[in-house]
Amino acid sequence: MIDPCSEDATSVLSLEEAQARIKSALLPVAGTEIVVLKSALGRVLAQPVYSPVNIPHDRNAAMDGYALAARDIVPDQAFSLNLAGTSWAGRPFQGKMQPGQCIRIFTGAVLPERADTVIMQEHVQADGQTVHFPAHARPYRHVREIGEDMQQGACLISPPKKLTVADLGLLASAGIHEITVRRRLNIVFFSTGDELAAMGQALKPGKIYDSNRYILNGLLTGPGYSITDKGVIADDRDKLENSLIEAAENHDVIITTGGASVGEADFIKDILTSRGQVNFWKIAMKPGKPLIFGKIGHCYVFGLPGNPVSVIATFDQLVKPALQQLTGEPVAKPLRLTAICTSPLKKTPGRQEFQRGILTQNDNGELFVSSSGKQGSHLLGSISRANCYIVLPADCSGVEAGAPVVVEPFSLLLQDR
Ligand code: AMP
Ligand code: MG
Repeated sequence: MIDPCSEDATSVLSLEEAQARIKSALLPVAGTEIVVLKSALGRVLAQPVYSPVNIPHDRNAAMDGYALAARDIVPDQAFSLNLAGTSWAGRPFQGKMQPGQCIRIFTGAVLPERADTVIMQEHVQADGQTVHFPAHARPYRHVREIGEDMQQGACLISPPKKLTVADLGLLASAGIHEITVRRRLNIVFFSTGDELAAMGQALKPGKIYDSNRYILNGLLTGPGYSITDKGVIADDRDKLENSLIEAAENHDVIITTGGASVGEADFIKDILTSRGQVNFWKIAMKPGKPLIFGKIGHCYVFGLPGNPVSVIATFDQLVKPALQQLTGEPVAKPLRLTAICTSPLKKTPGRQEFQRGILTQNDNGELFVSSSGKQGSHLLGSISRANCYIVLPADCSGVEAGAPVVVEPFSLLLQDR
């Protein structure tokens, strides 16, 4: 953290500078816990996991058919073998397969000792105890070898890794039912503003409903976070200060919305300056210029702007990667693509903009984007209709229809809304 009184603390940073500042200020949480596999989806792995068994554990068939020994195949000629029995998935053939014999076998069933080849049932004619194989029977096919997926003792998954559905399947296939993951982040959020009315109340003049807590609740709902909604705090410096100090005592992160600007009721920066530290305050991003990043004690504080579209955009660009870093998961850069912009876009040079757009793809795979409507940071309708950001660099002074632009598809959570 820098001296909060320094010039640096109040100058306007580029988004990239702000992201870099956050990155170098954060320390991932250290604690771990053991969870059962069923509860591990989306949790961040804390230790490498080694396989106690070979996967597959036995040599088994990849097809329904007949198992035989490659050396019993007569090259380039049709041939016949005697049927010695059947191997079912979970019920292996109990006898011994002798030279000149084959067995009926089903997918996943163990191959008898001599067998090293499976011929698909579609290519075989069974006639009582005699089985006829075609001239094109190929040796060593359709057999799953022991340890082909993972060898006993091999590392199945190592950190940093946020566990996916496939990871859970892999761990389960090795019989692992408990794993060590990073502890959840404790995040508290609240809205600030005298104008905010509770849901269910009729709106009195000057009042609005609180959108931001519903946005944050949605953005923060996930396996890696334990979230607390502290409601609405009035524009009262003492109340706000007490709420921040109290929240900082037992949380890793505080996220506030509103009160981060230069209005007379905007206290967040003052409080952080006197009771904690301010790392930076303003970023050259639209929507989202007033954004405070700082700390109270060990707790990181993100003071987001009040306008709801700014909340979503600053969360996506700054808070989400910060939370990923804190939980110890790899921080992936968002997917960015180039699309042809079909509507003209207005922009004044100065700030990097994240306009809201509707991205489509034609039958040839070409991408097109159009504006989703009016772009005010208070206009939730146009972000609700959108499925991507149109990312315009700071020096851009508008886009003509037909020009290529960079787009960033919304995270799935936003797209699904
Ligand atoms: P502020 O940063 O507090 O000056 O707020 C900027 C704008 O965002 C104002 O128009 C506020 O009324 C609006 N705003 C602040 N908080 C919320 C909220 N929780 N939900 C919807 N709009 C809000
Ligand atoms: Mg306010």
